[in-house]
This record gives sequence, C-alpha cells and structure tokens, in this order.
Amino acid sequence: MSPNAPYPPQSPIDPSKALSCPRCSAPAQPSTAVQRCARCGGAFTLQVGYALDPSTPLPPYDRALPSIKVKASVQMVLQTGTVAPEGVMLGELDPVIGLVATNEAGVMFPDVGSVAVHRTVDFVSLVVAVLVPLPIAGGLTLIAMQPKTPIGFLVVAGLFGLLAAWMIYRAAFIKKHFVRIVGRYRTLSVRFDTPLRRRRAFHDELLRRAGIAPSPIP
Ligand SMILES: [Zn+2]
Repeated sequence: MSPNAPYPPQSPIDPSKALSCPRCSAPAQPSTAVQRCARCGGAFTLQVGYALDPSTPLPPYDRALPSIKVKASVQMVLQTGTVAPEGVMLGELDPVIGLVATNEAGVMFPDVGSVAVHRTVDFVSLVVAVLVPLPIAGGLTLIAMQPKTPIGFLVVAGLFGLLAAWMIYRAAFIKKHFVRIVGRYRTLSVRFDTPLRRRRAFHDELLRRAGIAPSPIP
C-alpha cells in the first residue's frame, strides 16, 4: 500500500498509533523488511492489515486450522497468547492454578490494523543467571580442582555451567519476543517466545492468517 493512500473512513483505527515503532511509538512506515527506528534505534517489523488496507489478501476463514498457544509471565502476570482460526487472543491466566485463561480479549483477523514485532534483552533472567548458576559452577570447579575430590563435583559444575550458558544465551541472544497487534477495537501486546519451539509458528501463522506478507522476526 502506498503511504499516501487514504484510510477507510469507517476505520476507527488511529493511523498514528498503528503506524509507529512498537518500542517508543515514534512514527514509522510499514515494510516487509526489518527496519530500525529513527528515534530509538531499535529493530522491528511493522506491516498493515486488512482494517487499514482493504487490499490485504485476507485468507478465507478456516475453522479447521489449529490454535497455536504461547505463555509468558509479563510484569508478574501469567499471560497466554493464542493464534486461533478467527483471530489472535490474549488472556491472563488464573494466578492460582495457571491453567484457566481469564479476561481473554482478541482481535479478529479482519480487524487487524497493523502488526509490529520486536525483541528485547531479558535483563531479569540475565541477572539471575549471573547471580545463581554461574557462581555455583565456579565454586564447584574450584572444589573439583582440589586433590582427591570426587569426579562428581566436576560433573555437577559442568551442568551448572551449561545451565548458566543456556540462560545467558536465551536472555541476551534469543531475547524476549513481542508482537503488538493494533486492532479496530483494541491493541494487544503478546510475548510469544515461550515455548521457544512455537515462536516461529506463532509469528508466521499470525501474519499468514491476517493476510500479511511473510517477514523475518527482527
Ligand atoms: Zn522507536
């Protein structure tokens, strides 16, 4: 769509909100490529959906499509994100058993104004990794280096070292994945990197079912 195309007058979506950086809300233009924000310098993708551009090739509704669920703790609240056949949903999980989604809210695919994706370093996990498994691995290695120490100490030190390395890699290189969906009636922000194996399917199916061209996770 050309940036100067008129928006449908019936759309209550505010283009200044839909066409903005998901990190700092600076104005941005849609693109299938990963872009960098002129204001904050962060990488993100931004594409428009059917509610802002009616020429978006929305696929026909197919109730047989599987739902793809992700789960994340966001500001101490356990949330679920779901790419369903009819739209994308965000729910808060019951804080006691963490299984029943409450306050579920969704954006139907024809109501998607824009989809924006970005990743951020998980500083909390990074600090936990540096404060917990890393010193344990170091301490056990020091003990293991003493003469006549059972080999088990070295094995356990290695396991804690692997755990620390994985936590640091997860937090600093894979990072937290967020998608912002600006819809006709509401805006959702979904963290979608847990479980890791589902993040690609969640992202790609969300775009595909919304009729949006495939794009990389930035
Ligand atoms: Zn920005």
